[in-house]
Amino acid sequence: MDPRLRTADLAGVASVELVRVRLPLIAPFVSSHGTETERDLVLVHLLGEDGVEGWGECEALAAATYTAEDAEGSWTFLRDEVVPLLRAGEAVDVTGRPMAWAAVEVAQLDLTLRRDGASLAAHVGATRTAVPAGAVVGRQASIDALLTEVAGHLERGTASIKLKIEPGWDLEPLRAVRTTWPVLTLAADANGAYTVEHPLLGSIDAVGLAYLEQPLAADAVEGTIVWQRRLETLLALDEAIDSADALGFWLSRGFAGVVNVKLSRVGGVGEATQLITRAHGEGIGAFVGGMLEGGVGRATSLALAGIATLDHPTDLGPSERYFADDLTEPTMSDHGWLTIPAGPGVGAVPRPERLAACTVDRVTFPR
Ligand code: MG
Repeated sequence: MDPRLRTADLAGVASVELVRVRLPLIAPFVSSHGTETERDLVLVHLLGEDGVEGWGECEALAAATYTAEDAEGSWTFLRDEVVPLLRAGEAVDVTGRPMAWAAVEVAQLDLTLRRDGASLAAHVGATRTAVPAGAVVGRQASIDALLTEVAGHLERGTASIKLKIEPGWDLEPLRAVRTTWPVLTLAADANGAYTVEHPLLGSIDAVGLAYLEQPLAADAVEGTIVWQRRLETLLALDEAIDSADALGFWLSRGFAGVVNVKLSRVGGVGEATQLITRAHGEGIGAFVGGMLEGGVGRATSLALAGIATLDHPTDLGPSERYFADDLTEPTMSDHGWLTIPAGPGVGAVPRPERLAACTVDRVTFPR
């Protein structure tokens, strides 16, 4: 089968529902890609004929800044193409739409696992029961505001901090955090905001980062490998890796850093577990990264983060990091630790009243 074609078995499914929500963020989240003030999420909801449900969350952002997918495009793709084709028993070409497809894959997996009374964590081979919470800190109004923000995370037990950086907000904030907390596990994520000649790269080793994530554009293969050879700091890839095969390509070009595993970016749990297995087999570092997920998406990512071969800390954090009132029961930090969901299925479902309050669009298809 063409690798871009996907199918889903809707046997035993009574209805497919798409729900679009807008979940307010506690504070605007600023990265080199732009500013998010509310999380625009599309949920795929399968209702089984036996009353069992399956939920999946599409992590595309409101604008197509992180990758080429955006929430509106995902919504129309799911509504006008994916669900009609699946109802007709036909395959779907998911080229360029991994995040939309991941929501379908996870919803179906969630339904199947709930019927079996099994957890997603067990399904993917996760053996950890909890992982240390991380925090990704976007650009702040000032260095003082940044230090206050980081201090708040550390007081709540957060084990590692990743700063979003971009030209004009890089060495000064990184040095300020490093000077204040000399032994903190600190990383930086540029979301591809630098060019290969930018002077930041030559100065980054002195900061003592766990890794520098995606300093150059996703397709800047040569430049990334050149800088990898010059630097002591590990380089991490995020936007550049859209599949396990993409990691194979980068390895063939000499990449020897770290890979940020996001199941949404690679098109689902199956591809993400292959990516994790491949990274481990090749001796490449890996960790599970977050996407400002709502509760369903975070629980899904946490199941993956429980896989014991992941050797860098996840940047996932508790619900309260982003949302005053999550869609699901909140993901809680226990002295800086996040529990790997024990299921059934993904281990989180939207609370009906919260879902209703945040819903901006909804469409239901009988099978
Ligand atoms: Mg990133």
